[in-house]
Amino acid sequence: MSAAGRRLPALLGGARAFVRDIPVGQMYFPTWERYEAAMRGIFEREWYTNHGPLAREAEERVADVLGVRHALCVTNGTIGLMMAAKALELRGRVITSAFTFVATAQALTWAGLTPVFCDVSPVTHHMTVETAAAVLDESVCAVHPTNIWGGTCRPAEFEAFGAENGLAVYFDSAQAFGCRVGGRAVGSFGALEVFSFHATKILGTAEGGCVTTNDDELAERLRNIRSGYGTRAKVAVPVTSNGRFSEAQAALCLLALDDLEERTAHNRAIRSSYVSGMAGIPGIRVVDPPDADPSNEQYAVVQVDEESFGLNRDALVRALKAEGINARRYFFPGAHRTPPYDESAPPPGELPNVEHICRTVLQLPVGALVDYEDARVIADLVSDFHADAERLREAAGG
Ligand SMILES: *Cc1c(COP(=O)(O)O)cnc(C)c1O
Repeated sequence: MSAAGRRLPALLGGARAFVRDIPVGQMYFPTWERYEAAMRGIFEREWYTNHGPLAREAEERVADVLGVRHALCVTNGTIGLMMAAKALELRGRVITSAFTFVATAQALTWAGLTPVFCDVSPVTHHMTVETAAAVLDESVCAVHPTNIWGGTCRPAEFEAFGAENGLAVYFDSAQAFGCRVGGRAVGSFGALEVFSFHATKILGTAEGGCVTTNDDELAERLRNIRSGYGTRAKVAVPVTSNGRFSEAQAALCLLALDDLEERTAHNRAIRSSYVSGMAGIPGIRVVDPPDADPSNEQYAVVQVDEESFGLNRDALVRALKAEGINARRYFFPGAHRTPPYDESAPPPGELPNVEHICRTVLQLPVGALVDYEDARVIADLVSDFHADAERLREAAGG
């Protein structure tokens, strides 16, 4: 961008680029008219929850989209993860990525399991069979990788790894609804997979999620754990809960499924705007969603090289925040450094890639409340920040 086109960053006293704060997440919701029509049906039927007609339809459609025998919709992704660990009847230690949302590990703890955190690839930011093998020992009963960034961890490799080592394999695919890898949709790998339908995910139902599996018996157990009432499931389970999906959630889910392609295309355009707009900025890498074809385009992730860019990641986040852009550090400071795991966290240096990525990665806005042009404006701002790096470093403290 020419010097003439450069503007004074808000952090240095310039006007904010965006008057209203832009959220980082999706916030994709149907129009009020479409939602109202769906809600009217629920009120007319007077059937609000307990596996109603919309919940059943949502489960059928999710299973169909993902090419999997069973999809059990649940209240949110976290309870889906908790139910999954119980349904698999795991005992002992479970290998998972240290670079994940802390719910991945918290769900293990809820189920009486102990997470064993492993490192990730510096390129894909996912755990690999090699980083998992590095922490494998006799006490480990399962491997539980996370698919993040709209990419995957190469789940088929983990299926083979589990078979070789006698481990259960199941995935936290909270961020991967609609991703495919090797011609197969995410959702049918391992013993089961868990998705989130949180408002910040591509398929948002405000709160929601689902557990998917091809295993009939496991599906029965999951149904009984989701709710002991009305399932007619005869299979014995260690404990039940309440993870039911309400009709209001199901209504949003069905509308979101109708819109999924459009949302993905919208995010893809936004990400391509970031990619082209930031191509020439030293020290800025827009991370490609790894090992997914196609990606669900859930996120636009940027990694900052402080030396070439002139600012570190935290200073960039502060400079964007001053412009009204809620860029986010993910998953800072890493699951292994979040209570209660911080007390037994491995010493610095043991998970070097996770530590580095936690310090250098940020999410840029995607979703309903931004568009291609906004992404271009944000890319130009980042370019301006690079040019003004010295003054910004003083103002932002980085
Ligand atoms: C969002 C998310 C979850 C939790 O899902 P909720 O529906 O918010 O409970 C778990 N794991 C990962 C990786 C996530 O991104």
